[in-house]
Amino acid sequence: MINDQEIGWNLENSYAQLPELFFTQLKPTTVQAPKLIVFNAELAATLGFHDEMLQKEEGVALLAGNELPPNSESLAQTYAGHQFGNFTRLGDGRAILLGEQITPRGERVDIQLKGAGRTPYSRGGDGRAALGPMLREYIISEAMHALHIPTTRSLAVVTTGETILREKELASAILTRTAASHLRVGTFQYAAAWGTKEELQALADYAIERHYPEAAKSDNPYKQLLKEVIEHQASLIAKWQLIGFIHGVMNTDNMTISGETIDYGPCAFMGTYDSSTVFSSIDQMGRYKYENQPAIGGWNLARFAETLLPLLHHEGEQAVKIAQDLIATYDERFYFYWLAGMRSKLGLTNEESDDAKIVTDLLDLMQTHEADFTNTFLALTHDKWEDCKLHNSQEFKQWHDRWLKRKSRQEVSENEIKQVMKNSNPAVIPRNHRVEEALEAAVEAGDYRVMKQFMDVLSSPYDHTPDKVPYQTVPDNNTPYRTFCGT
Ligand code: AMP
Ligand code: MG
Repeated sequence: MINDQEIGWNLENSYAQLPELFFTQLKPTTVQAPKLIVFNAELAATLGFHDEMLQKEEGVALLAGNELPPNSESLAQTYAGHQFGNFTRLGDGRAILLGEQITPRGERVDIQLKGAGRTPYSRGGDGRAALGPMLREYIISEAMHALHIPTTRSLAVVTTGETILREKELASAILTRTAASHLRVGTFQYAAAWGTKEELQALADYAIERHYPEAAKSDNPYKQLLKEVIEHQASLIAKWQLIGFIHGVMNTDNMTISGETIDYGPCAFMGTYDSSTVFSSIDQMGRYKYENQPAIGGWNLARFAETLLPLLHHEGEQAVKIAQDLIATYDERFYFYWLAGMRSKLGLTNEESDDAKIVTDLLDLMQTHEADFTNTFLALTHDKWEDCKLHNSQEFKQWHDRWLKRKSRQEVSENEIKQVMKNSNPAVIPRNHRVEEALEAAVEAGDYRVMKQFMDVLSSPYDHTPDKVPYQTVPDNNTPYRTFCGT
C-alpha cells in the first residue's frame, strides 16, 4: 500500500467554499477495471506529484475516480452558456472536480476527471467519454501548451474496462484535465440568471482572487476584472489565429476567465489557408469559422460584461457605459496582439505603417493559391522555394521582393531575424491526418507507439530539427476534414 503523501497530493477546495448555487457535491461513479493508458510525467512533476507513485495501482484508482484523494470535496460545477447563440442552463454533465492541487511553486491548479460519471447536469447523457476523443484532447491540448498557447492540460487518460454506446459500442475512458480554473463566462451567466447579487459578487471576488489579485486593489475591481479578461482573451484568440487553430465551439461556456483554451471537442488546425475554414460537423452556418473567431470572442466578452453590470456601478446607465467602453477596446487589443504576432512570423522587429498590408496581402495570396498556412511561414523562415502554386505565381514573387525590402529596413542581422521567425513559426503542428493516424493505431489496434512518437515531436514545435520534417508533409488527398463534439 502506498499512502497519499507518497503520491504528492496537496489538495484544497476553495471553489467548494462558494455559495452552493455554483456546484453539487458528489463522487465519481466507480468503474470496473481502470487501466492507465497515457500519462504526462512532466506535468505530474510540475504539479508536485511523484509520478511513479501516481502510475501504480493506487494512483490509477484515483485517476479513474474509484478512490478519492485526501481532502477532496469532489463536485460538479454549474454553469450556463450561449451554445451557437442560444442561452442554455448547463453544468458539468460528465466532469467532476476533485479539488485544487497546490503546486510546489504555489500555483493553484484544478484537477478534474472528465468522463467520471453522471451528475445532476447530465441531462440525457451517460456522463462518460469515449477513448478516442479523450486521447484527441490529450494530444491537442499538450500540443497547444508546447506551442506556448495558454490551455488546460492533460495529465492522464485511463480506460475504465467498460464500454459506452455511441453510434456503436466504444471503450470508455477518463481524462484527468488540469486548469488554472474552470471558471467560464458561462459560470457568470449562471450567477446573473439564477443567483442573487451577493452570489454574483462572491463569484467575481473569487475570480479576482484566483486570477487577477491585483484587480482587488483597484478603485473598481469588477471593472478591472472585465478589463483583464478582455486582455487575456484578446491575446489568446490572436494566438489561435497566428497558428491556424480553429476552436470549433466557442460557446460562452467554453470561454475561460483565466484566458486558457478549453474544450477540445471539434477543434482542428487549418491546413490549406482558407479564412472561412470550419471543421465542426455541427457548425453548419460557419458561426465559428476561422475568420469569425476574433469577432465571436468579442461577442462572448460582451455577454460576460452584461453579467457584471450590477457590480460595475449602482446606477444602471453608468454600469452600461463602463461595460460598453471596455468592450469597445477589445477589437483594438486583439489587433495589437495579432499584428505583433504576425510581425514576428515575418521577422519584422520594428514597426512600419504598412505592415498590416504586407500581412493581409500574403494571406490573400495564400488563399488564392491554396497554400498551406503553416508551411508557407515555414518556407519563409527557412528561405525555401518550393514547386507550389503560391511560389510559382508572379504575385508572390512581387510580394517576396517587397518583404525582402521591408526586412532590410531594420537594424537586425539576418541571423536574428531567422531566430525571431523560428520562435514564431512552428516546425510542426498536430496535422489532422497525423492525429487520425495516431488515434487509429491507439484505439483500433491498441498500439500507442504512433501517438507517443507524435507527441514527442509535438513537444518542441519551435525546435526546427530534422525529426519534424516527416510531420510537415501535407496529404495529397486534402479532403475536407470533419470533427465532432467530443462525446
Ligand atoms: P460541450 O459541448 O462539450 O461543451 O458540452 C456541453 C454540455 O454537455 C456540458 O454541460 C457537458 O458536461 C455536457 N455533456 C457532454 N457530453 C456528455 C455526456 N456524455 N454525458 C453527460 N453530459 C455530457
Ligand atoms: Mg464544454
